[in-house]
Amino acid sequence: MNDAPPYRDAGGSILQVRAEGRPEPALDDAERPQPPSRRLGWAVCGLGHFAQNYAIPAICRANEARLAGLISGNPVKAKGVAAAWGVPDRSVYDYSMCGLADDDTVDIVYVITPNAIHEQNVVAALEAGKHVLCEKPFAHDAASARRMMDAARAAGRKVMIAYRAHFEPNNLALRAMVRSGDLGEVWYATSDHHRPIDPEAERDQWRMKRALSGGGSMMDIGIYALNGLIWLLDEVPRTLVATTFSPETADGRFDEVEAIAQVQLVFPSGRRASISSGYVASKKRIDLWGSRPVAVLDPATAYRGNRLVLTTQDGDQFPASAPSEQQFVGQVDHFSRAVRDGIDILTPAEMGLRDMNLLEAIYASASRGEWVALNEDGSLR
Ligand code: NDP
Repeated sequence: MNDAPPYRDAGGSILQVRAEGRPEPALDDAERPQPPSRRLGWAVCGLGHFAQNYAIPAICRANEARLAGLISGNPVKAKGVAAAWGVPDRSVYDYSMCGLADDDTVDIVYVITPNAIHEQNVVAALEAGKHVLCEKPFAHDAASARRMMDAARAAGRKVMIAYRAHFEPNNLALRAMVRSGDLGEVWYATSDHHRPIDPEAERDQWRMKRALSGGGSMMDIGIYALNGLIWLLDEVPRTLVATTFSPETADGRFDEVEAIAQVQLVFPSGRRASISSGYVASKKRIDLWGSRPVAVLDPATAYRGNRLVLTTQDGDQFPASAPSEQQFVGQVDHFSRAVRDGIDILTPAEMGLRDMNLLEAIYASASRGEWVALNEDGSLR
């Protein structure tokens, strides 16, 4: 074809170059979003590192949600975030959430503040009549989690915990394999979740303060190992024994919270598991030691690039998977549907409370230096 009009095809005939309608194209993986009137309005509470890098972009990419509000203690920052993402100034609130109850554009509040400040924000949002997605861990202790659940019952509103791995394609594929029996017998599992804490970083300041975090590496990222194995194996441990370790450092980063935690778990079926967490190294993996094959998620719970490896005597296989980033949008769409259509929440507040009970049991075992027995809800027997 010549590159100047009139265009001619290979046979020399003049081609008509004009706009005209054509049939539907093939829609590859593109899922159509809900029309704006059906999408749920989300307000993000706490505009820190995770909120701005992952949560807000996910809400804006989701099919069932729209970013409708912001809640922050820093009005200057909030104004800039609102301008960047198209949130109207009238839907920017401080932590009193004064006026939120009258804001019909907001259905759901996503709480992304330090662990011990979840309760204040979750309760305020519930009292304003909003449903709540709360970041993990649900709280800094189990009593706080129970108070939030009482507030949800009183308000008649839903609470979901942001366990994003339950929406991550590689984790979902592994869970399906366990359930279908494709791994054979799985009598042993391990999971290690470590990431270096940075005493210079703003986002790690509160993590080093027990009053704000509730604990160290086990509370912050060990919870992925704990929650992940329970979800993958579909049973709650019956007994456990734990140890923690906090080396002295010149910058005092481990003065209040543990650097390392190690836990041995025994499940009702007899399965054994060993989990660890740390604030020094960088690794997040889950290994299910099946009789055919051994399945390894490495990384297991990264923001992107998680990978499932299946190992047999014949070598390794790497099953293809959708991108890991789907986990962020997946949990936003799931909770939107739960609120709008009433579907069951996959990671409900009860799961968050169970994990808080288990974390308390882990710290109790570490401080007593002995095995502890657990109830079905993860609390100390
Ligand atoms: P950041 O420190 O980056 O952000 C926390 C934000 O909370 C602050 O920017 C601030 O927002 C608000 N805040 C209110 N009161 C305080 C206070 N006293 N001290 C510090 N911040 C305060 O933390 P992260 O974003 O890393 O973590 C926030 C929550 O998200 C935690 O519960 C954490 O466990 C969870 N998280 C979950 C992840 C996941 O993968 N699901 C990953 C990372 C974190 P503002 O200035 O707007 O008031």
